[in-house]
Amino acid sequence: MTVLERLKDAVGAKGFSTEASEIAPHLEEWRGKYHGHSPLLLKPASTAEVSAILRICNETGTALVTQGGNTGLVGGQIPLRGEVLLSTQRLNKLRALDQSGMTLTAEAGVALAQVQHAADDKHLLFPLSLASEGSCTIGGNVATNAGGTHVLRYGMTRALVLGLEVVLPGGTVLEMLRALHKDNSGYDLKQMFIGSEGPLGVTTAATLRLFPKPDVAVTALAAVASPDCAVKLLGAMQAHTGGMLSAFELMPRIAMEFVTRHIEGARDPFASPSPWYVLMEATGGQHANLTASFEDGLADAITLGLVADAVVASSAAQTAALWKLRENISESQKREGASIKHDIAVPVAAIPDFLAKATPAVLAIAPGARAVSFGHLGDGNLHFNFNSPQAGDDPQFLALWEDLQQTVHDIVKEFGGSISAEHGIGVMKAAQLPRYKSHEELDAMRALKRTFDPKNILNPGKLIPPGLRL
Ligand SMILES: Cc1cc2nc3c(=O)[nH]c(=O)nc-3n(C[C@H](O)[C@H](O)[C@H](O)COP(=O)(O)OP(=O)(O)OC[C@H]3O[C@@H](n4cnc5c(N)ncnc54)[C@H](O)[C@@H]3O)c2cc1C
Repeated sequence: MTVLERLKDAVGAKGFSTEASEIAPHLEEWRGKYHGHSPLLLKPASTAEVSAILRICNETGTALVTQGGNTGLVGGQIPLRGEVLLSTQRLNKLRALDQSGMTLTAEAGVALAQVQHAADDKHLLFPLSLASEGSCTIGGNVATNAGGTHVLRYGMTRALVLGLEVVLPGGTVLEMLRALHKDNSGYDLKQMFIGSEGPLGVTTAATLRLFPKPDVAVTALAAVASPDCAVKLLGAMQAHTGGMLSAFELMPRIAMEFVTRHIEGARDPFASPSPWYVLMEATGGQHANLTASFEDGLADAITLGLVADAVVASSAAQTAALWKLRENISESQKREGASIKHDIAVPVAAIPDFLAKATPAVLAIAPGARAVSFGHLGDGNLHFNFNSPQAGDDPQFLALWEDLQQTVHDIVKEFGGSISAEHGIGVMKAAQLPRYKSHEELDAMRALKRTFDPKNILNPGKLIPPGLRL
């Protein structure tokens, strides 16, 4: 039997496809930047089937790429070298929900939105929230340590995972689905796999933390003069609300213009333009008098000159309208044509200085480029993006990509930041890693990869820089 026949045999007739039309959507990612090819799509329906697949791949040295919802933004899920593709789409069961213990166990292929809804049905909250939540999966969220809009209050995916079930490349199953908040009984092995992007093992299920569902949410859009005012406003609002902010998002004027130009129904709520805006939200229980402390905080900020103007949503429809402005920035950027993007993090207090240094450095390389720097200011994470000088595709602008990216990432390093705040390294940034991580850190990463996947069968060429011996 050939390897491919053995793999098909391991999953049965429903568990694989060689149909080009079924495989095709798995070969290209959301931005259309990476295109792959694969002779076989595997769709295991159980942990035992994943284990059987990995045992065969390891024994025969057959490379394999794991794919969840295919919403990753750094190409990690695409079989660029013709690898076998393992889709988690049939690992789709919610295994358990413990209402009083506030935990939920979901298989890797369950969509994030399905987990949110299951929690919501029990008046609980799973706080991970991404614009891709209808398609991305829990396995993908764990692999990428996904962030999103509520990290400020609840942390990244890493902070939301209590237990994991992982299959190692040799087929060994690590059953670590413990619903424990405290467990100092040795190395916390699950952490090795969270944010590891797939090259160490295949996650088949996760036990997740749920939270009480807030009864009250206050949302406001504030017009601010500068990123410096925005950082000061963050501190002031956290103090006023007793740390109840759950989102604090920065947007420049141009983002407001793009969204209101391209997205139907999006409207600028202010009478006059402001150079920057902050979308903020605080959530809590009925007893907390949150609305009053939030509005007091905003009034103080206006008196202190930190905020020029503000609108507080007074209905669910108004809340949705404010979030629509923030959530459609990426989509409207796409409609404006070519863009060069960076997903960076620096310490929160350094954001104004970073913007003041990095923006002119980019404009010196790409005169006229339109800076659309927005994002999760409360976490020090900016999507430091630039659209081409004119609307439409612009090959000359895109040709500057590498030069521009290196300039930005070098400045990020100067500020003690990260070149990937939440999207990961994948194939997109693997070659750049040696410039920004120490030799010692890279050695430790390679040692981990060797330990878990000595034959380099899982997601080869992803995360670990090319050309470096494993
Ligand atoms: C419109 C849009 C908005 C987004 N917003 C955000 C955001 O705010 N914050 C954020 O962090 N990300 C964001 N993302 C990126 C993306 O949605 C996340 O990285 C998400 O966690 C990926 O999940 P997925 O199931 O689609 O994984 P995939 O894209 O299928 O895979 C991503 C990586 O994880 C690995 N992987 C997937 N499943 C497994 C598994 N079961 N075991 C081992 N490895 C696995 C893959 O091999 C690959 O390396 C956004 C993407 C889009 C398209």
